[in-house]
Amino acid sequence: MTDPAIPDAWCEVHRDRIDANIRIALGLVPKGRRFCAVLKADAYGHGIATVVPLVRAHGIDCIAITSNAEARAVRAAGYGGQLIRLRAATPIETRAALPDRVEEQVGTVEAADNLATLKASGAPVRAHLPLNAMGMSRDGLEIETEDGRAACRAILDRLGDSITAICTHFPSNVPDQLRASATRFQQHADWVLNQGPLIRENLLIHAGSSLTLVSDEPVETDMYRCGALLYGILKPDWRFQTTMTLKTRVVSIGDYPAGATVGYDRTFVLDSPRRLACLSIGYANGIRRAGHNCGTALIGGHESPILGRISMNTTVADVTGLDGISIGDPAVIFGGPRDTATSLEQAEAQFGTIIADLYTDWGQRNHRIIR
Ligand SMILES: *Cc1c(COP(=O)(O)O)cnc(C)c1O
Repeated sequence: MTDPAIPDAWCEVHRDRIDANIRIALGLVPKGRRFCAVLKADAYGHGIATVVPLVRAHGIDCIAITSNAEARAVRAAGYGGQLIRLRAATPIETRAALPDRVEEQVGTVEAADNLATLKASGAPVRAHLPLNAMGMSRDGLEIETEDGRAACRAILDRLGDSITAICTHFPSNVPDQLRASATRFQQHADWVLNQGPLIRENLLIHAGSSLTLVSDEPVETDMYRCGALLYGILKPDWRFQTTMTLKTRVVSIGDYPAGATVGYDRTFVLDSPRRLACLSIGYANGIRRAGHNCGTALIGGHESPILGRISMNTTVADVTGLDGISIGDPAVIFGGPRDTATSLEQAEAQFGTIIADLYTDWGQRNHRIIR
């Protein structure tokens, strides 16, 4: 819980950088291909209401989400174009999403039955057929098996030309694996087309995410679905910039003697007298508890080492020798004046996970300030 007027920790969302990232990403899309902006997890923690106007301003004509709440937020932000869901949905979700015109994935006969029922009752249905292509094995149809092929024929029977797209999601973008996945997807898509009743010209065949778009490996796809690039998670050397700064404040400054320990379980022992700052941010704000005794907070322009275990709502940083640090001063945990490459490198080392994991966590747990 936080008072928005005096937040204990907050995320600054940089609209200008998202805008610049979108521009760079669109410049990478090969001629004749489409670009879908991925806004799942509330736009990777940045807020759908903030990101949709930028996406619209660039004329992007496809947005992807996962939950119904996200679909609603995209429509509430004034977007009227193609809206696709990136996972399978339950019948209850599918029905509830009809007013928001969400295009659903239909990877099982049950899902096809459900959509066919809705269609029979007059609902406009546009379904995407997700092929597993020996890939993610989460909700795609695997037509490598006879059972899978039978299920595919049954889905085609039930929905026919309400299937407007065939898609897949590559599990790896390492070049040789990407090549193998893309080839298999192509073969499986061809098999589906050979069954009739779908016609290639009327279909959108989409595959590939941010890593696919920046890969040297050419991939057959009508549309790339990209999230990471919009939020500056990849390719700082191509001038993509991080779009979120995580900040907190110094709430106490104290001097502690050599031999004193810092934090729970005494995982850090002071080897000399130190001046320590207590910051009003902890694992409840998404500062992973796993990241103890590592990383820094940027306080008064100095990288101050984080010491000891992260507490629920507090973190301790070493500010020994820094002049002019006062209670109430801001401390930057991620991003800020650091350049993107440094931010990404530091955070990955400090928290031991990918930036998308951190963004979605921070952005959804903390107060957001739009810059
Ligand atoms: C999340 C997701 C994407 C976007 O991935 P990024 O790596 O963030 O670009 C694309 N497609 C599917 C199916 C996804 O789940």
